[in-house]
Amino acid sequence: MINFGSLGLIALSSFTLYAWLTSSSLFKPIIHKQPLFCTPLRVESPDHPINLKRIVAQAYKDKQQISIVGAGYSQGGQTCASQALQINIREMNQLINLNLEEREVTVQSGITWQQLQERLSIFGLSVSAMQSYADFTVGGSLGVNAHGQDVNWNPLSRSVVSMRVLMTDGRTLNTSRSENPELFKAVLGTYGLVGIITEVTLKVLPNTILLKQVDLISTHNYNDYITGLSRDKPLALHSARLSINPLYRFKNLVAVNFFDTGQLAIPEQEDHELNYPDTHYLNLVKKSWLAQTARTTVEYFWLEQNGEMTRNQAMGESVVSLKNTVAGSKDILQEYFIPPDKLQLFIGKLKEWLGQHSYFTLINATIRKVNADRDSLLPYAPEDRFAVVLFINLPDNETSNTRMQNATRELIDTVLDLNGRYYLPYALYASYNQFWQAYPEFKNVIEAKTKWDRAGLLTNRLYQSYGTF
Ligand SMILES: Cc1cc2nc3c(=O)[nH]c(=O)nc-3n(C[C@H](O)[C@H](O)[C@H](O)COP(=O)(O)OP(=O)(O)OC[C@H]3O[C@@H](n4cnc5c(N)ncnc54)[C@H](O)[C@@H]3O)c2cc1C
Repeated sequence: MINFGSLGLIALSSFTLYAWLTSSSLFKPIIHKQPLFCTPLRVESPDHPINLKRIVAQAYKDKQQISIVGAGYSQGGQTCASQALQINIREMNQLINLNLEEREVTVQSGITWQQLQERLSIFGLSVSAMQSYADFTVGGSLGVNAHGQDVNWNPLSRSVVSMRVLMTDGRTLNTSRSENPELFKAVLGTYGLVGIITEVTLKVLPNTILLKQVDLISTHNYNDYITGLSRDKPLALHSARLSINPLYRFKNLVAVNFFDTGQLAIPEQEDHELNYPDTHYLNLVKKSWLAQTARTTVEYFWLEQNGEMTRNQAMGESVVSLKNTVAGSKDILQEYFIPPDKLQLFIGKLKEWLGQHSYFTLINATIRKVNADRDSLLPYAPEDRFAVVLFINLPDNETSNTRMQNATRELIDTVLDLNGRYYLPYALYASYNQFWQAYPEFKNVIEAKTKWDRAGLLTNRLYQSYGTF
């Protein structure tokens, strides 16, 4: 049964508090990107592949180590290493070709999803797969083989037709499932450790009108619910937010679905602005127990509304909507990939885990559907999985970071026992043994690195932490 009887009252009192707080000047934006964990030697920002090639050639000559950064939203130093040259790829952000017949777009890897959506929408097209937010670069997303709300095209590699990759020895190679297929696998989702993706050709989709449908359901019915979802109508996007109400934690969830109507959006009517949902309520949840109890009620009855929007609009939210305004605290993300038949068990364990650790606050726990990754050498979902994303607020100091690391290791052990994996773009909390237990395929990445990056120039904190035997 769904428990939202008493939540209504609580929601009302929370609204009053919310209205007062949001009208006050207490909310001042602080940060939304994580600080770097290393000091690069210097940063180079080439705006053309020729300049990039020149920089890499010089580094090769000098035996200078290199890290690559896109939009820089990974949270554990996956884009940098102390004393390494950091190559910022964001200036290489051109759309190179749009093949309307094949519905394929070729872009430079520093383009962001938002920049790409803007250009595609003019032609009535949309991105197939990307993260839940549009601020990331295509290259950085390929570097982690991202996934998002799209249920058919994730992980992102599914939509990749081909890539051009600059090797550290100066060669630029084309790669696809038929041309240099080993390199294709070795570059996708391997955190910039094998080669630098300069261009990519992606499959795109028509920018159709999607019908948004929001459901409040009991969590223990979720597996059946999602199996039945696309029986009658084509499901395009899906995510489900577990109730974080401390009184009935995880009992219910709000499922947000977008069904494809097949009707094309009119390009001129497209709004190119990113969506910036109100950050105030999210920040209130970090501080107020009342707001936590009312969260699901507020979300279902107020924040999420049924309706129609284009695919680009539904996929056009900005991470700015997550901006932390609570002084002295930071937000972190974690994500776990769980076999479908273990999801309910994991949710129970997650609840126990939260009960044992009270110094941080769970702000969001979202479930998404992730398809088996057949492309990357380093798959986080070797088979179909449910991804459970945790958005956590904790005091921004060393003590709480250490406590978070210890707590995370406990949770990773639980996930590994369930034959699941954790996601790598976040804080490097996992122990060395946990990393290797989760990702035994990393030895194949090291082999590929030996072949394609012979001089061993490409590096980052992830590699430095776990990449040695
Ligand atoms: C608020 C927030 C929400 C998120 N939501 C999602 C989500 O919904 N789904 C998801 O999958 N992930 C999600 N993430 C994780 C995020 O997707 C990854 O960190 C992603 O890589 C960010 O893109 P970026 O451009 O910032 O990449 P960066 O952090 O800059 O780079 C990521 C990795 O790719 C490598 N790289 C960058 N460019 C290239 C290139 N041209 N060639 C080769 N390697 C390259 C980098 O070296 C690095 O190892 C989220 C992160 C945050 C902070």
